[in-house]
Amino acid sequence: MHIENVAVVGAGIAGLATALAFARRGIACDLFEQAPELTEVGAGLQVSPNAARLLAKLGLLPQFEAVWTEPRQISLVSGTTLRPLAHVPAGDYARQRWGAPYGVLHRATLQRVLREAVDASPLCTLHLQTPVREAPHSTLGQLTGRSYPLVVGADGVWSTLRATIEGSPRPSFSGHVCWRFTIPDALVPGWLSRDQVTAFLGPSTHLVAYPLREIGGFNMVAIASGASPGRTWDAQATESHRQRLFGEFRRWDRRVVDLLRQAEQPTFWPLFEVGTGRWHNGRDTVLVGDAAHAVTPFAAQGASMAIEDAFALVRCVCEATDLTQALSTYQASRQERVAKVRSRGAFNRFAYHARGPIRLGRDVVLSLQPPESLAADLDWLYGYKAD
Ligand SMILES: Cc1cc2nc3c(=O)[nH]c(=O)nc-3n(C[C@H](O)[C@H](O)[C@H](O)COP(=O)(O)OP(=O)(O)OC[C@H]3O[C@@H](n4cnc5c(N)ncnc54)[C@H](O)[C@@H]3O)c2cc1C
Repeated sequence: MHIENVAVVGAGIAGLATALAFARRGIACDLFEQAPELTEVGAGLQVSPNAARLLAKLGLLPQFEAVWTEPRQISLVSGTTLRPLAHVPAGDYARQRWGAPYGVLHRATLQRVLREAVDASPLCTLHLQTPVREAPHSTLGQLTGRSYPLVVGADGVWSTLRATIEGSPRPSFSGHVCWRFTIPDALVPGWLSRDQVTAFLGPSTHLVAYPLREIGGFNMVAIASGASPGRTWDAQATESHRQRLFGEFRRWDRRVVDLLRQAEQPTFWPLFEVGTGRWHNGRDTVLVGDAAHAVTPFAAQGASMAIEDAFALVRCVCEATDLTQALSTYQASRQERVAKVRSRGAFNRFAYHARGPIRLGRDVVLSLQPPESLAADLDWLYGYKAD
């Protein structure tokens, strides 16, 4: 089927990717963002080959290759001894095995490159400082004078568009908090490898570290249980928050604890999830990205799932005979995919945060895994073609 134009609410990763994916098929897109500017909030993001393949379809891979880092491998390392446990090869191996690269970059860079592509597209118009709260179809129609057969809610984990869909999922706090800080290149300790993503695993906690070229240093994310500071991406950690973090990591190798103690201006970010439910109203409104299914970062798939959603939605709209059919096909296929990613995240959470004898068993099992077999175990995830 063909529609002339679409409205997208929210210019995060999901919204920008959706606008570009529609434009690629000749469908005009108005993009409405509440913020007056797309600012540099956030930190590092991982873009796995399943999403990098789609960025390549948009013709944007060269822009990303110029700024991101392609880690040689994803390593799992014991947080209590700093002993390497296992690794999944990435770098050139990822390009060969999954047909696309694995990159790490700052969220602001991903958003900037997508936004520049939106600005350059004659079919996309970005409207900043335009919050869309209720009755989206009539509100948006009044704003632009156009009518929209389809409104896409890409307005994130605390989506307001979601409330217009009966039976839609609800957000809830996962009980985990991410602590984020950066280390400038000059201060990076020798035990942190500069050419890999490293996940350090400890009792009820883990720490992910990788280099970011854009900041000239390392992106560090420590994940532990904690209380939610509310709806924020960037709460400043107070002294009592810091003490709580040190308490959670007290059984870790001394060198990591020292690094956490030296962290300058750590921020923290409560991990919210969006559960299961309907993503569309059967007529003219549909959700993508975190608005539909925010997942915890245990499988590092938040941004990649948002980019996949964009392409899957556009494919369903272009291939279906009517919108109702398109929306239900989109929901069915994406819910199946996201459920698998969620299960993988739950498995990783169990394995990463294991304690006592389970942790010892995990370390033995991981040490026996050849990198090839760990890579093969990820074919369903990284080799997926959402378009
Ligand atoms: C500020 C910020 C920082 C983040 N930092 C990180 C990070 O460091 N690491 C990481 O892994 N993930 C981070 N994330 C989450 C990550 O971007 C998402 O998990 C993933 O990219 C999917 O994004 P999304 O586009 O679905 O939602 P989001 O990235 O949340 O984008 C939603 C967009 O919709 C806009 N919006 C919300 N409500 C309305 C409304 N009513 N009207 C109009 N616009 C609206 C928001 O301003 C935002 O731009 C961050 C998200 C945000 C918003």
